[in-house]
Amino acid sequence: MNWPSKIINDINSILLPPVCFGCKAQLSGGEHLLCTVCRHDLPLTDYNFEHENPVDRIFYGRVRIVKAAAFLYFSDYGIVKNLLHFLKYKNQQEVGDFLGDWFGLQLAQEKAVEIDAVVPVPLHPIKRRKRGYNQVERFGKRMADHLKADYVDHLLIKTQNTKTLTKKNRFNRWKSSQDLYVVKNNTPLAGKRLLLVDDVITTGATIEACAQAVLTIPESTVYVAAMAVVP
Ligand SMILES: [Zn+2]
Repeated sequence: MNWPSKIINDINSILLPPVCFGCKAQLSGGEHLLCTVCRHDLPLTDYNFEHENPVDRIFYGRVRIVKAAAFLYFSDYGIVKNLLHFLKYKNQQEVGDFLGDWFGLQLAQEKAVEIDAVVPVPLHPIKRRKRGYNQVERFGKRMADHLKADYVDHLLIKTQNTKTLTKKNRFNRWKSSQDLYVVKNNTPLAGKRLLLVDDVITTGATIEACAQAVLTIPESTVYVAAMAVVP
């Protein structure tokens, strides 16, 4: 987002009465981000780190991921899409706190796995500068707090802007995606249990590419947690 539209957004969020990010109804006192109805209607997956689930199965035979889970079901319309739209394009980073707290607490209470560090899927630096923030950052930080893990955002680097990739043909695209993400300064993370966090898992290609890069760290193991998954 460029800075004039960012400022207009910020001014709007101060002047206008708060609305529900799910259904745009006006919020009443005590309601925050979502109205009571939308909060109740959130399509929770109930996936966890204890039992096998469909997110695990996305990665079978593709990349060695110990355990994966996603918090919500994503669909082309409805509460989750609207909520994540506010997070991604309207500078409403509190959505990340909200989802990270809820999911993080849930996973911490299970005590099924122990995590050493949370690693966000990075944006390309140009995109990051345009948007002003990585939309998974605050989600990842809250997850790290609850799981008593470090938050490490300087590890993975995205080397190409995906926009330019879509113009290439299929084979070149596949070749390029192999080195789309690289790991920097991996020494302190050897032997650690790393949790990759992302917003929405669709085909799993992004997580697969990130996990391949992270697994170049000696003896590391990879876990995955996303805000949502396309069922
Ligand atoms: Zn609502």
